[in-house]
Amino acid sequence: MSVAIQELETCNFSDHETGRIDCKACETGYPRRCSCGTSGLIHAEIVKVQGNGYIQLSRCDKCGLPG
Ligand SMILES: [Zn+2]
Ligand SMILES: [Zn+2]
Repeated sequence: MSVAIQELETCNFSDHETGRIDCKACETGYPRRCSCGTSGLIHAEIVKVQGNGYIQLSRCDKCGLPG
């Protein structure tokens, strides 16, 4: 399954609370500690993809990389 970059960018994690381990916008089991070494937290949410159902996106609130 491939997803257009543009679609991914519409999920900007703006509802997430940066630096909060108890972020309410995250899926169950998140946020998680990132291994980037900057005490970042990996946030995750389920995003609906047109025609393809759902995918889970995750991103560190410090380094910006997926978990
Ligand atoms: Zn979050
Ligand atoms: Zn990170």
